[in-house]
Amino acid sequence: MNFRYLIQKIRRFGLRILSIKTAKRIEMVDITGDVRTIIREEGFVDGLCHLFVPHTTAALTINENADPAVCRDILNHLSRLVPPSSPYDHREGNADAHIKSSLVGPSETLIVEGGRLVLGTWQALFFCEFDGPRERKVFVKLLPKG
Ligand code: ZN
Repeated sequence: MNFRYLIQKIRRFGLRILSIKTAKRIEMVDITGDVRTIIREEGFVDGLCHLFVPHTTAALTINENADPAVCRDILNHLSRLVPPSSPYDHREGNADAHIKSSLVGPSETLIVEGGRLVLGTWQALFFCEFDGPRERKVFVKLLPKG
């Protein structure tokens, strides 16, 4: 078992909340299994699963989880595009993380059919940390069909 990060599941205001403790400044954490667990626990069968990150230096994306080199390439290339140290106006030392967060985006919407997340064979859902390690949250809203 991998204890790189810790995930807690909380319920608040009709939202399910994944609480994630990241371990590095920049990393991608596969949260697909945790979202599948929420869908199963809620008995959710058909509709949309909307996920939203309430942070300005993190993001969500869907990509390959079979070869870990894909995530390394994504993170390394993002850091070449937006280097950690550059003459930024934002003086908190995390300007690159804000820019990466906007480039990747704060949300994803997935289809749930027959109680299962609809994803391609090689696809997984990743929480993207750009200014860790930190305690983070992902809001999960399940929207039933019709
Ligand atoms: Zn900042």
